[in-house]
Amino acid sequence: MRLHAVLVLFCLGLSQKAFSVSPPPNIIIIFADDLGFGDLGCFGHPSSRTPNLDRLAAGGLRFTDFYSSSPVCSPSRAALLTGRYQTRSGIYPGVLYPGSRGGLPLNETTIAEILKPLGYATAMVGKWHLGVGPNRTYLPINQGFDQYLGVPYSHDQGPCQNLTCFPPNIKCFGKCDQGVVTVPLFLNDKIQQQPVHFPDLVASYDKFATDFISSSAKGKRPFFLYYASHHTHYPQFAGKQSTGQSLRGPFGDALLEFDNTVGALLEALVASGIQNNTFMFFTSDNGPELMRMSRGGNAGLLKCGKGTTYEGGMREPAIAYWPGKIQPGVTHELASTLDVLPTIAGLTGAKLHGVQLDGYDMSNILFNKGMSKRNAMFYYPTDPSEMYSVFAVRLGKYKAHYYTQGAGHSDTTPDHDCHFDALLKSHDPPLLFDLESDPSENYNLATASHPEYKAVLVKILDAKTQFEKTMVFGESQVGKGSDPALEPCCDPQCSPKPTCCVCR
Ligand code: MG
Repeated sequence: MRLHAVLVLFCLGLSQKAFSVSPPPNIIIIFADDLGFGDLGCFGHPSSRTPNLDRLAAGGLRFTDFYSSSPVCSPSRAALLTGRYQTRSGIYPGVLYPGSRGGLPLNETTIAEILKPLGYATAMVGKWHLGVGPNRTYLPINQGFDQYLGVPYSHDQGPCQNLTCFPPNIKCFGKCDQGVVTVPLFLNDKIQQQPVHFPDLVASYDKFATDFISSSAKGKRPFFLYYASHHTHYPQFAGKQSTGQSLRGPFGDALLEFDNTVGALLEALVASGIQNNTFMFFTSDNGPELMRMSRGGNAGLLKCGKGTTYEGGMREPAIAYWPGKIQPGVTHELASTLDVLPTIAGLTGAKLHGVQLDGYDMSNILFNKGMSKRNAMFYYPTDPSEMYSVFAVRLGKYKAHYYTQGAGHSDTTPDHDCHFDALLKSHDPPLLFDLESDPSENYNLATASHPEYKAVLVKILDAKTQFEKTMVFGESQVGKGSDPALEPCCDPQCSPKPTCCVCR
C-alpha cells in the first residue's frame, strides 16, 4: 500500500513538474470568410466597428504580409488545416457543393489530427466547406474533431433568400443558389436544423464554443477550437444585438457580430483563467467579394479581390495573440495560412508523420520578433492545373505575374483588370512589382526602361521551377462532381426534393 502511494505521489509529482515546465497551450483559430485586407479598424478601415479585433491587434502581433493559399473558400480551408497547398489534397478547381461526391481526403492530416494524440479536446464551429460526401464521410468529426456545430458549406449554397434576417420578414439581400436543399445546421453528423435560422446562428455558435472552452478548462484538458465564421461572406446577416449597430450597413453589422464573437471567446478564456495559456490566431480565407459592391468587403489599397491572384485576392489581415508570450507589435515578415499547422506542431511537439508540407514554423516571428523562414509565396488561381501551374510568385518583396485573370467575384470595381471579362492573359516577361514600395501593383518594373530587374526575374523563375518540382497534384475532389442524393436532407424519405428537406 505504502509503496503504491509513494509511486502515485512520485508519478503525480512528475506530471505536475512536466506541466509546470511547459503546460500544453490551448489553441484557437478564428477564421473569417471573404474578409478583405482593408476591412478591420486595426487595418485602417475608417468606419468598421471592430473593437475586439482591434484589442487583439493592440495586444498581439499584427501581420501586414500574410497570405491565404487561394482566392476562394474550400481550397484555402484545406491549406489552413493541412499545411499543404490545395493542389496536393485535391481541393480544386473552385469550391465544393452541397451534393459534392468528394471532400478533404481522409488520408490528409489536419491540425486536429496532429493534436489528438497529445490528449487535446478538439472542436469545430461554423463553415467547414471541405465536403459532406456519401455517408457524411468528410465532415469534421471524421477529420480529427471530437465535436462539430455548423453549416458544412457556404450559406449562399441554398435558397437562403427565403430565410429572414432580423427583424423578422426582412429578406436577405440578393439571390443565392436555387434547386438545392435549404441550408442545414449540423451537430456532429446529424442535422439539427434545416433551414438554418440565421438571426440565432451566431448566438448558438458562441454558446457552443464558450461551453467547450469552459468544460475543457474545468477538465484540465488542453483544447483546440477552430471557429470558422460565415461572416462576412455574402449574404450578410446578423442577430438582434448587431443589426443596425454599425456604420457600414449589413456588411458592417455582420462584421460587428463576428467581432462580438471574438469578444465572447476572450471573455470565456478570462473566466476560465486560461488567457495566458492560449494561443489565438485570426485571419480570413480569401479576399473580399467586390461584386457585392458596398455589401462586399474591402481590400484596402490592394488590387482586386476574391477569385484573383492579385494581392487583394489572397493577402489577408492576420493577428497572433498570446498575452505574456507574444509581444504586441506589427510584423512585415512573409507568412501564410500554410504556416499555421507547422507552427502549432512546433508549439505543442505534435508529430507530423513525414508528409510533404508547404508551411514553415512561424515561432521566430511570433516570439523573437525574428525573420520568417518563408521567402516565397506561390499564387494558384481558383482552377489550378499542371499546364498553367502558379499564376504568380512572390519572392522577398518582389512579385511576378506569369498569368493574370479577372473574376466575377471581383466585378464592379473601377479597375477593369479585376473583372470577369478580363480574360486569361500570359505575360512574357512577367509583370513585376515591388510590393514594399508599390503594394497596389500599379507600376510594372519589367519593362525596357528597367533592365536592372532582369536578374530579379531570373531568381523568381528559379524559385518557381524548384517549387514546381516538388508539386504533385492530388486527384481533383471537386472534379468528382455532385449527386443531388448526397445533399443533406433532414427528412431523407420526403418528396418532392429538394424543397421538402425541412426539419419539422
Ligand atoms: Mg471565402
